[in-house]
Amino acid sequence: MAHPIRIGVDFGGTKLEVIALAPDGRELYRKRAPTPAGDYDGQIAAVGRMVAELEQSVGATGTVGVGIPGALSPATGLIKNANSTWLIGRPLDRDLARALNRPVRLQNDANCLAVSEATDGAAAGAEVVFAAILGTGVGAGIVIHGRPLTGRNAIAGEWGHNQLPWMRDDERPGPTCYCRLHGCIETILSGPGLTRDHREATGRTISAEQVAGLAAQGDVEAEATLRRYEDRLARGLAHVINILDPDVVVLGGGLSNMDRLYTNVPAIWDRWVFSDRVDTQLKKARHGDSSGVRGAAWLWPPE
Ligand SMILES: [Zn+2]
Repeated sequence: MAHPIRIGVDFGGTKLEVIALAPDGRELYRKRAPTPAGDYDGQIAAVGRMVAELEQSVGATGTVGVGIPGALSPATGLIKNANSTWLIGRPLDRDLARALNRPVRLQNDANCLAVSEATDGAAAGAEVVFAAILGTGVGAGIVIHGRPLTGRNAIAGEWGHNQLPWMRDDERPGPTCYCRLHGCIETILSGPGLTRDHREATGRTISAEQVAGLAAQGDVEAEATLRRYEDRLARGLAHVINILDPDVVVLGGGLSNMDRLYTNVPAIWDRWVFSDRVDTQLKKARHGDSSGVRGAAWLWPPE
């Protein structure tokens, strides 16, 4: 192949990050820069400048993969489902290809997490990987044999806007979601969702991290909130296991740092999985916050 390095770009809403990976996955370069929200042309130009600077610094040219907070609509070729709303309706892949003078591969940021972890992360070598981001929102992606599954509508893995399965009566109808449905997994399993659940149970508004900290100190109410969270996460993932039957489920995002999830959730998800036993592994993303940008680089996979 003509390019000795792989370049990943994380095209976030308020920041741009670029990375260069050697063929063995070693990180050769990384730079992050804030970008003005809403300035589409400015962001395209900034990617061009940052990639040029990267290539000059590393002394090599690279393939470019880009992780985006949305998806390219197969129907229109334009961005959809982006929380950075100024991207919606834009031909981002073509505009970036023009700015960088080469073909560019684009994927949803959750798909990039899945690619990163399936390539050289917590799910390295696994055939079927489901990776979920549990953070300010909830997104997820699927990788099969090292490649992201995009899907006919480019929504494969969009688990966050399914309703929480096996809802109990006291959970119905669930919070209203910005997508206009009720009880979406995102409204329940995101950080703000955990905060809301704790507030509804206790009257106190604290962050998910604070809930986890209190539970670790033996706080009974915080412990109860995390038990509810784990039960709901187990139900949500059992639903995925029944459909996709992945080898590994990887968790990323801020809430994935709660180490108790990796023992408590698999201990209860088999109540809902239709199988005599469940050998699916639940793992924390190995590359943490870097998984999105690394996965973007690996959109040009190893030969
Ligand atoms: Zn929703």
